[in-house]
Amino acid sequence: MVRNIEFSERQEQIIEIVKETQPISSENIANKLNLNRSTLRPDLSILTMSGILEARPRVGYFFTGRTSLNLVSEKINKILVEEIQSVPVVLDESTSIYDAIVFMFLEDIGSIYITDNGFLSGVVSRKDIIKTAIGKIDLYKTPIGFIMTRMPNIIHIDPKETVINAAIKLIDQEIDSLPVVKKYNEDTIKYKVVGRITKTNITNLFVELGTEE
Ligand code: ADP
Repeated sequence: MVRNIEFSERQEQIIEIVKETQPISSENIANKLNLNRSTLRPDLSILTMSGILEARPRVGYFFTGRTSLNLVSEKINKILVEEIQSVPVVLDESTSIYDAIVFMFLEDIGSIYITDNGFLSGVVSRKDIIKTAIGKIDLYKTPIGFIMTRMPNIIHIDPKETVINAAIKLIDQEIDSLPVVKKYNEDTIKYKVVGRITKTNITNLFVELGTEE
C-alpha cells in the first residue's frame, strides 16, 4: 500500500541538484554535497525506489517530475472498490418496515439494500424510515418495498471500479453508501448485490493511507 513519503533534508537537496543539472552521476551529486558516493547510496536508492528519481545506467540520475503528492494520488487511483468493500446487507422487498428497522439496529447500518427475487430493487436509508414516522403507515403490515428508493434510480458501482469513482458518486449524489453489484443480462439488465461501500470504508482507507509506516 501507500507509504508516507517524507524525505530527509539531504534527500531534498539531492532532488534539487538533480532537477538543476540532470542527467547527473552519483559522483557529481556527491561532489556537490561534499560527501562520498557510498554515503549517498542509501538516499539515492530511496529516491529511485519511490519514483522521484530515475537512474539510467551510464547516463546518470533524472528527475521524473513526480512529487510525493502526485505519487500518493497515483496510488489512490489504483485502489479498487473490491479491495475495501464491506459485506452486503440485504432484505427482500416483502419484509415489513418494522422488521427492517430491527434489522437496521441489529446490523448497526444506516442503509439496507432491497432485493426482489435476489436482484437489487431498491435502497432504504435512515431518512426513509424516519419519514414513515410522520405518516400513518402500519409498520407491521407495510412492506419495506413501499418506502424504498427504487431502481432504476439506484446509484451502484462495480467491484472493479476505483474507490475514487465511488467517492465521487457518493459526493455528487449526496448519499452515504453504494451497493456494489455484478451485472446479469437476462431479458432486462439485473444486478446482484455483492457488497457495499460506505463513507466509513473510505474514511478507514484514508486513515490507513495516512498512518501506514
Ligand atoms: P440518510 O438517510 O442517512 O440521509 P442517505 O443520504 O444515504 O442516508 O439517503 C438519502 C436518500 O437517498 C434516501 O431516500 C435513500 O433511499 C436514498 N439513497 C441512499 N443510497 C442510495 C443509492 N445508492 N442510490 C440511490 N438512492 C439512494
